[in-house]
Amino acid sequence: MTWKENGEKKHLQLGDADHAEALAQILPHIQKAAGTLTGIGHRVVHGGSQVHEACLLTPDVISVIEANASLAPLHNPPGLMGINAAISIYPELPHVGVFDTAFHQTMPEYAYRYAIPEELYTEHKIRRYGFPGTSHLYVSRKGAEMAGLPVEDSCWLVAHLGNGCSATAVVNGESRDTTMGLTPLEGLVMGTRSGDVDPSLQVHLHRTFGWSAQEIETLLTKKSGLLGVSGLSNDMRTLIEASEKGDEKAALAIEIFCYRLAKSLAALSCALPRLDGLLFTGGIGENATLIRKKTLDHMRIFNFKLDDQANQSCVRGQGGKISADGHPLVLVVPTNEERQIAIETLEVIDAQ
Ligand code: ADP
Repeated sequence: MTWKENGEKKHLQLGDADHAEALAQILPHIQKAAGTLTGIGHRVVHGGSQVHEACLLTPDVISVIEANASLAPLHNPPGLMGINAAISIYPELPHVGVFDTAFHQTMPEYAYRYAIPEELYTEHKIRRYGFPGTSHLYVSRKGAEMAGLPVEDSCWLVAHLGNGCSATAVVNGESRDTTMGLTPLEGLVMGTRSGDVDPSLQVHLHRTFGWSAQEIETLLTKKSGLLGVSGLSNDMRTLIEASEKGDEKAALAIEIFCYRLAKSLAALSCALPRLDGLLFTGGIGENATLIRKKTLDHMRIFNFKLDDQANQSCVRGQGGKISADGHPLVLVVPTNEERQIAIETLEVIDAQ
């Protein structure tokens, strides 16, 4: 563990510590820096159909997170380890879950239902949920503030591009549609996740090649996306550098990523009554000038045009307008999920 205290860098070797032990070391330092801890806010990816807003992590709510683990296999199980570890270290503090699925609860039914028989929805809650709501909520509010528009009368396309990637149509502060679905696998191409594929691919792999469910899940969630196409890395920085040096597979991974993103943004525009602007966020959205440019180049009929200098300047946490005057607004809005989680955690604690 490495941290800075009063400007001085410090190190501590944790050996092969688990989550609980690592947190037991980290939290006292946070407490020292923050003063008295009021509570702990936990990011939870999947709240399923049972949780609609941030709430106290009671045993019942923790059971819901456990029950939804198979719908977010990369996220809910490690999230639970953090929650259980933090509760055992600070049992006296309120622990609040802030759910990625909560913001997307405002999607209309025609956007969140799959075209499959109704009983799968009514009996098994199979529907589109959407992720990561906390970032889309924060960024769409911040974007409205940056553009000088009231949140309750503003319409945005938000592209959150990190290791996980999703895009959302936000109308008057509410999610109206988003690219991720039942699980965080649907939609855009991501670092190691495939995003949309023909649903028959899974049956084909199973029936023709005898792949197990576990092997197919690992393929689509951990070995696909940028990593799968490039055969090199899930990290966009590495791919941009490699493609500049002539690596054709890295270049193709970038092309697929940008084209599919543009296609999804265009599709999401169907959920908007008008477009006030497009917001880029997440590690790629906030830093990768090339990805922003290539994506907008695909969206010709939207008349987007970047101010090249502004596009180059908005990196490393610097937000702002990157579109040329006279063209639809494009903003880089650095996300701050921790801040949003803290705000919602405090609201839950205050309401007790
Ligand atoms: P997470 O979803 O895990 O929070 P981040 O939002 O930190 O991830 O985004 C990670 C992604 O951002 C990686 O693909 C990384 O390569 C990319 N990224 C970060 N900085 C840059 C940069 N300067 N240029 C291009 N991509 C970048």
